[in-house]
Parts: sequence; structure tokens; C-alpha cells
Amino acid sequence: MSKYIFVTGGVVSSVGKGITVASIGTILKSRQVTVSVQKLDPYLNVDPGTMSPYQHGEVFVTQDGAETDLDLGNYERFIDINLTADSNVTSGQIYRSVIGKERRGDFLGGTIQVVPHVTTEIKDRFKRLAEKSQAEVVIIEVGGTVGDIEGQPFLEAIRQMRNDVGRDNVLYIHVTFLPYLTSSLELKTKPTQHSVNELRRIGIQPDIIVCRSDYPISEAIRGKISLFCDVTKEAVIPLPTVDTIYEVPVVLEEEGLGKLVVNKLGLKARGTDLSQWRELAQRIKEHLEPVNIALVGKYVELQDAYFSVREALCHAALNHNRCLNLLWVHSEDLEEDGGEALLGSAQGIIVPGGFGVRGIEGMVKAASYARTNKIPYFGLCLGMHVMVIEFARYVLKSPEPNSTEFYAATPYPVIDLLPEQKKVKSKGATMRLGNYPCQLVPGRHGAKAYGDSLVYERHRHRYEFNNQFRTVLQEAGMVFSGLSPDGKLVEICELSNHPWMVSCQFHPEFNSRPNRPHPLFRDFIGSAKETLREGAQPSLPLST
Ligand code: GLN
Repeated sequence: MSKYIFVTGGVVSSVGKGITVASIGTILKSRQVTVSVQKLDPYLNVDPGTMSPYQHGEVFVTQDGAETDLDLGNYERFIDINLTADSNVTSGQIYRSVIGKERRGDFLGGTIQVVPHVTTEIKDRFKRLAEKSQAEVVIIEVGGTVGDIEGQPFLEAIRQMRNDVGRDNVLYIHVTFLPYLTSSLELKTKPTQHSVNELRRIGIQPDIIVCRSDYPISEAIRGKISLFCDVTKEAVIPLPTVDTIYEVPVVLEEEGLGKLVVNKLGLKARGTDLSQWRELAQRIKEHLEPVNIALVGKYVELQDAYFSVREALCHAALNHNRCLNLLWVHSEDLEEDGGEALLGSAQGIIVPGGFGVRGIEGMVKAASYARTNKIPYFGLCLGMHVMVIEFARYVLKSPEPNSTEFYAATPYPVIDLLPEQKKVKSKGATMRLGNYPCQLVPGRHGAKAYGDSLVYERHRHRYEFNNQFRTVLQEAGMVFSGLSPDGKLVEICELSNHPWMVSCQFHPEFNSRPNRPHPLFRDFIGSAKETLREGAQPSLPLST
């Protein structure tokens, strides 16, 4: 039977609870304990797929096609596992299921209530993941902060689990924040005391408290939290802000969290080895030569909207012994006269996914700039649509080629709705989602990167390349280097007369791992690092 770790958050949000959860997974995995992870999101949306990136950040897509919270991306990257739809549970899903059962008559005669019906449904999701994954430990992160109205049923459910599966099989970890007062030059523990009190009020006594802080946490502060929150001193784990998220597993391990969890859950103690993570964190902190990549998008004010893209770029840069210098370029700024100056130092340009017409013309300008200046370009989903639109405008000598997503009446619909999408009316979970195969054309950038002939990649889109335009664009130098096995869907396209201008219909960023960069990202950076921009010096030693 699986054991459970429940992680709650206190005081404020955005203190890195997701990274902490992912790191606990890493620490356990390094002891050969099998883990799975689940994120509970208290909002009423069934999934984040219908939310704006401004509301939610990136939507992470699992192999089986679930649109999920971006924390799942961190779990996958840190623990190196592939999760499924079972790893993201929202209030919307829970209520939809309970009400469905009520309508079917499953509870005939009964009054349907939050306790026990909603809480039982929530606990069933915990147990379902435990059964399916067969993991020794299931880590469950409760989204939001203790005290939020909408999080109450989830907290009640995790409280009940202690009796359901036994005290020794459940561990509660509370992640809090210690604010620093500049007037008195001290860290304050009172908000932590209050959030622990709030947990206790509903019957949960945390076993471990992880304290996030921007400043070092003294022994005295640890002692104070131990006293007031009723946990042993070694169970108060300091987690000061670090330079890179990949350092968090190492810090938590050094503070004794791994040993504590193993002891408290009575897990079989096995040797631990985090040397890979130590090395990784060390490399990120070294002063490596930068590689300048411009990310052109319309959600750049909220960098979380491109979380996996940024991480995948960072993994690839490290692989080439470079540090990523990411230039965030708002696509609408490129639409202004002279906007191209924003790309002046870029050694590579990436256009990630997105929806809707705003900022599209700026992205087309970026693709045109990359093509004409021979700057490496990498298009992800929408970035591929943009590359095709730009090339078609050039080849057909017309400003009109477009995607029907942006201009339904275009005479040159080079990107159009997938046939199966034409009758779809409802917006939730109705895109082409999850893993689909892609056959690679030998000898091209795609096949060279993967070193394989058939790959599976994650998708999230409604529109695709319109085959009516294949011949004309092919004759002008566009290569369709990755196709669905039946040859009908363009999965990768590239330009023959260019160092590295490659786009894909899928989202490779979701498959990148810190020590195993995605092949397309790796080769994009490989090409970018060789690109010299005005004023830049070639790296020494100069080749003869
Ligand atoms: N908006 C485009 C589509 O729906 C691209 C989606 C994306 O970039 N994920 O096909």
C-alpha cells in the first residue's frame, strides 16, 4: 500500500511550494523510493486549459493529453517521470463527478454534502493514483494557501486520510514564508504560527515545517517555530532563496529532510546520491559564456506563461556549456517601426505557443528577420504557424497568406482548422491533445537531432498546416521533415536554405529534462551559439 505525503502552503502563495514538492520527490527517488505526485487545484475550472496564461501561467500537457497545472512540469523535470491526467485534480472535476453521480441516482434518497460526498470523491482520486502508479509514496500538493475558502474540502479530505490509511502512512508538510522586517532587521515567525494554528483548527498538525525565506534562518528562529508550532527542531527545515531552482533538492537534503521523511514514514532506508543535482546546480552558477536567445511572445510580462520553454532552453544551453541569456521580446513591440532592433543581439529566436490574433504580425516579423538574416529560428506550435505564414507571404508575394485562426477570409489559408475540429463547438479539452507519432525524414535537421525515425511528442492545437500549399512551399525551399505516419499532417517543417530554421507542430519543451535536453532544443542552441551578432567576439581559441 502507498504512503502519502500531503503538502500545504501557509502565509503567502508563490513561495515555491511546487518546487519543494518536486524536490521532495527527487530526494525520495534518489533513495530508490518510487514516487508519484498529484496537484490539487481548488478552482472551479475543470482544468486550466480554458484559462488565459495571464491567469494561470503555462498549461502543461501530459502524454495522455491532460491540460494541467504548470507544477506538473516541475514534478516531471525534477523526478524524471511521466505523469498522467490522474495527477491534477481540480474542484471543478470533483464537483462535476459528484453532481453526475447524483443525477444518475447513485445517492438516491440522500442529501449530497461536502462532507462526506465531496471529500470521499477527493480521497478516491488519491487512492486511484496510488493504485495506478503503485508508487511507494504518493506526494500530494494542496494548491493555494491554508485559509482559502475554496481549499477547505481538500484540507478536510487530507485530514480524513490519517484515519483512513493509518497514522504511520501519512505525513503532513507545511511550507511557509518568513517575512523580513527591514526596520528591525529580523525574520518574523508570527504569520507561520498563525497558519499552523489555522491548520490545527481543522485537525491537521504538521509533522514538518519548511520555512522559505529570503534571508538565512537562525537556530533561534528554528527553535521558536519548533516551540510554537509543536514540531521537533530538526523538523523545522530552513529553505532560504537559492540561485537556481535545481539547487532546492540539495538544500533540503542537507537540512535533513530526506532522512526525516524516511524515518517518519518508516520507509526502507536506502543509500542516497544527489551528486547529479549538485553538479547541475554548480554548473548553473558557474560563469559560463552566455548564448542570447530572443523569446518572442505576447505573454512575456508573465514569464510563468513560458515556464517549460525557458527550462528547456536552459537545459540545452547547459548541455553546450553556455548560460542562457533570455531576451523577452513582446511581439507587439516588434510591430512598431524599427522594432527589429530588439532582435539585434539575438543569436537565436524562439516563437512559442499561443492563441489569438494579438501580436501575430510581430511574430511574423521575427520569423522574417530570422529567415533573411539567417538567424537560427525555432517555432513551437504557433511558432510553426507563424513561420509558414511568413514564408508563404514571401513565396506568394502577397501579404494575405494567414491562418484562419487570425483571418478567416484569407484567400491563402496556409494554416487551417484540423478537419475533426470543424464541428467542435465546446472549448474545454477539445483540442488535439497529448502524444502523437511523428515520422522523420532522413538527413534533415529533425531526424539529425533525434537520431531516430519515429518519435512521439505532445500536442495542444486546433489548427495545422494546410496541405494545399505543400507543393508550392516545398518548391520554394520549405522541407516537410516530420509527418504523421499516414503522411497527412505536417509535424516538422524547416527551410533548406538556412542554417537552422525549424518548427514543430508539437510542444517539445514538455519533454526536456535538466540532464537530458530535448534534441531539438539542443540543436537549436547548438546552432545559435555559433551565430555571431554585430559587436560580438568569436569565442577563443579562434579556429584556423
Ligand atoms: N493557436 C494555435 C492552434 O490552436 C496554436 C496553439 C499552440 O500554440 N499551442 O492551433
